[in-house]
Amino acid sequence: MNSSKNDLTRLAIHTITTKPWSLEEACENYASRGVPGISVWIEAIEGRKTNDVKRIIDRAGLEVPALVRGGFFCDPSPSERACKIERNKGLLASAAEIGAQMLVLVVGAVPGQPLATQRDWVREAIEKLLPTAEQFGVQLAIEPLHPMYAGDRSCVTTLGQARRICEQIDHALVGVALDVYHVWWDEDLDLEIERIGKRGELFAFHLCDWRCPTRDMLNDRALMGDGCIDLARIRAAVHTTGFEGWEEIEIFSTEHWANDQSVFLDQIIDRYQRFAIDND
Ligand code: ZN
Repeated sequence: MNSSKNDLTRLAIHTITTKPWSLEEACENYASRGVPGISVWIEAIEGRKTNDVKRIIDRAGLEVPALVRGGFFCDPSPSERACKIERNKGLLASAAEIGAQMLVLVVGAVPGQPLATQRDWVREAIEKLLPTAEQFGVQLAIEPLHPMYAGDRSCVTTLGQARRICEQIDHALVGVALDVYHVWWDEDLDLEIERIGKRGELFAFHLCDWRCPTRDMLNDRALMGDGCIDLARIRAAVHTTGFEGWEEIEIFSTEHWANDQSVFLDQIIDRYQRFAIDND
């Protein structure tokens, strides 16, 4: 990699990272700093027409790696599961309409059901979404979440589980979103990155850090370098696969949201550049 100090060409930021900003403010500020990508959370565009959203993003000259997030497929009731699939078809349409390359899937979980059964529901749901994904040309990226969310948010907690679902489905539009926050602890991390990369199924790379101690299970993500994740090593493993996708900053943090978002954005870019340069 030959990144220069100013090389932000693969950098994208998730709207949730600067949650206090409107979509317009996020687009204007990212673009003004030379950040070329914005991954859009559905909360950021709620109640808005997708063509208006696309106009705002296009006006800023930004690209959209992902619409975040669909999924939540798990429910003991087959009719409820069917409703969830329909909802995701709508999200695939929205993703296409705003120019997003992929829909990120947080696959869901419900208490009291075997996790293996729930992973079968996830596979079935994604298979049923394939015609719609093909119609719109939008990728489906399974994002494993940290096991602390296995009870009610994600029955897929490792890259290995996500890979196995991808292997079962075996479709060019189905792959994995690797978020360092969720998988950094996994002893099979390097092996799974290599396996997923070899199959061409590594679609997304999400960056932040794991604060020690963590004060909140959801909203205490840290800026790169402020936590204990070996980002350099993970990034090297990702790049070894030939990954040429976006590097997406995804930090939800009550602490950072309370600060001036312009200052926070400058910090993000500074940390990203240091992190990228130190390891290239
Ligand atoms: Zn993520």
